[in-house]
Amino acid sequence: MNEKKVVEIRNLTKNYGSGGFLTAVLKGVNLEIYKNDFIAVMGPSGSGKTTLLNILSTIDKPTQGIVQLDGKDVTKLTNKELSKLRRDKIGFVFQDYNLLDTMTLQDNIALPLSLNGASSRVCMEKTMELSRMFGLKDHITKYPYQLSGGQKQRGAACRALITEPEIIFADEPTGALDSRSSKELLECFKTVNDSGRAAILMVTHDAFSSSYCNRILFLKDGKIFHELVRGDKPRKIFLQEILDVLSLTGGEFSDAR
Ligand code: ADP
Ligand code: MG
Repeated sequence: MNEKKVVEIRNLTKNYGSGGFLTAVLKGVNLEIYKNDFIAVMGPSGSGKTTLLNILSTIDKPTQGIVQLDGKDVTKLTNKELSKLRRDKIGFVFQDYNLLDTMTLQDNIALPLSLNGASSRVCMEKTMELSRMFGLKDHITKYPYQLSGGQKQRGAACRALITEPEIIFADEPTGALDSRSSKELLECFKTVNDSGRAAILMVTHDAFSSSYCNRILFLKDGKIFHELVRGDKPRKIFLQEILDVLSLTGGEFSDAR
């Protein structure tokens, strides 16, 4: 078991605006993420999911509270230190893939590593290893327009992993995928996570996607109001537990973008 603590947040608050126009979005969130975690964050629209993800991934700053990534208090880092931390420790996967259309899949995957100055041999080796793992071996010389949505998103996941980050953040990674492509992506995520490569935190409104995770955080009104842990339960039993929590909250979660 890989029990290294990757993220710790304490009493995190986030307000937007000021004075009479203040919106309190996060109202005291506490969370620890370990290297072996695969976490889903669920919650109604506007509950602060993206805000939480942006703060965790150091794109946005908290109003108050402690955010530690890889043992460092991110609120105390300079911009230069922050960008190094983002480059070395964090991978991102977006709903709409964000691949560069003018590059082949293998160049897209290798890009973060080649920008870090790695040799082309190392870039190629790592690209091949990841593309095998994600079932993309036969597609790496193709351009994004020649790939299905599922292949593009698995490619985006390889790109996020190539720098060997501690954690992957994904905002609705299956949001644009059909159910088969979603399943393939989630199974790859699970393999990555099981092999101890990286923790994964994804925002999703989809119970099926969540059921691949080992922890589910339910966010509501700026707070974590419930947490489910999978433990040794089979995925289908866990899925039912998730659906039960969602139905208790009266369908508020059904379209939680
Ligand atoms: P979710 O991803 O759960 O739908 P968000 O984190 O995007 O929710 O937004 C939570 C709340 O914060 C919403 O009410 C939204 O309008 C508000 N909000 C988000 N970003 C900003 C911003 N940059 N300025 C002002 N309000 C914001
Ligand atoms: Mg959102």
